[in-house]
Amino acid sequence: MHLRGKVSYLGILVGILVAISCIYIDISKNSFYLVTANHEIVGIVKGSKALNEVLDSIKKTDGEAFLKFLSYKKVKPTRNFISQRELEKNIREKLSLKSKVYSIRINGEEVVKVRNYEDYKNIIEGLKKYYYPKVGGNIKVLSYNIKEKIDVVEILDYYKNTVDVDDAIQKIVDGKMIVSEYEVKEGDTIWNIALDNDVSIEDIRLVNPELNIDKIKIGQKIKIVKKKPYVNVEIVAMVSSSECIPYDTKKIIDKNLKKGIQKVKEKGQNGVAYVEKKIVVLNDDVVEEDIVLNKIVKQPKDEVLVLGAKKDLYVAFNGFIRPSRGVVTSRFGYRWGRMHEGVDIAASTGTPIYAAASGRVIFAGWKSGYGKCVIINHGNGYQTVYGHASRIYVRSGQYINKGERIAAVGSTGRSTGPHLHFEVRKNGIPQNPLKYIK
Ligand SMILES: [Zn+2]
Repeated sequence: MHLRGKVSYLGILVGILVAISCIYIDISKNSFYLVTANHEIVGIVKGSKALNEVLDSIKKTDGEAFLKFLSYKKVKPTRNFISQRELEKNIREKLSLKSKVYSIRINGEEVVKVRNYEDYKNIIEGLKKYYYPKVGGNIKVLSYNIKEKIDVVEILDYYKNTVDVDDAIQKIVDGKMIVSEYEVKEGDTIWNIALDNDVSIEDIRLVNPELNIDKIKIGQKIKIVKKKPYVNVEIVAMVSSSECIPYDTKKIIDKNLKKGIQKVKEKGQNGVAYVEKKIVVLNDDVVEEDIVLNKIVKQPKDEVLVLGAKKDLYVAFNGFIRPSRGVVTSRFGYRWGRMHEGVDIAASTGTPIYAAASGRVIFAGWKSGYGKCVIINHGNGYQTVYGHASRIYVRSGQYINKGERIAAVGSTGRSTGPHLHFEVRKNGIPQNPLKYIK
């Protein structure tokens, strides 16, 4: 059936009816048409005017050739009719015609295309949810700010080139590959290079197949490839929580006690504080933390330790002790397709973390991903890492004994709950820590 013929026929009919009565115009307007494209139903539309507007809109971008694949017939009034917009969408999809889609541009660069304007709004909301602060306590978000300029532009494209909201969010947060080069400096180990550049050793190995990571040389260039999200979402929030105040440890040196032996004279007790803080989170990292209120609910009680006469530092390696009480929740090795370079020991916030062996603290502070982190150099090529701490009790450069309390368990950095992430490295290569713990 030729549509144009039908339409003009209708026009004449409507014209005649107008002369008779207004009621008939209403009836004509409210005729329902079942439309098929390529012999498949694409929907019912209410009114010939609506149908014609849809066809005109398609003609504007695609000419009239598509009409021969289209047919329609009048049907009984029904509630199951669709909007003009939906009908146009369905016809274009069925006939593989380009459709109006929305190109989302971040700082001018097209990142994804979606079908609806609402999808764009949902993506913005989804990004806020994705980066919702992952910290303990009651969170009240004060502001969200996406630092990049995000535009949405209506363009014509095939639906197959669009993605749904979830995939769009994933693509934006996965980001794009950034390639850079790192020049090896004196004192670098492959492990420190990986930490400083926020990539895993496995990532370095993959993109530098020629590199012998056991023998890196000063001046050597190492390719660093990492993904950078298309957006930087800054969230300011107030967080209130009950926090543990770890007890302090008083040490008494007893020269009559054998070296390396320690005894608890008085057991310590953690205190409790009600803390309110203002935090600034950039994507997944807490970049600022201001304590607004810190009310002590229960005072901590010091622990008194008696230590045997002080040991020589840098003693020959003689194994590590378990750095914290708790349950091993994630082992060393591949996890979700990524190398897990240590073990996770779950314990409640505030649980003491002890030095696995004596040595010198070479890092104590915030490390991307690791949160509050301590790294100890034990000599003989051994280093240990302690991540996600809530508190750090040592400074970089300080010498410490095996079993000395260096930090407290927490959930800072990329962490989903309080635990200690513990790594053992030998000459920069991650080792399975469970093989070393006595
Ligand atoms: Zn871990």
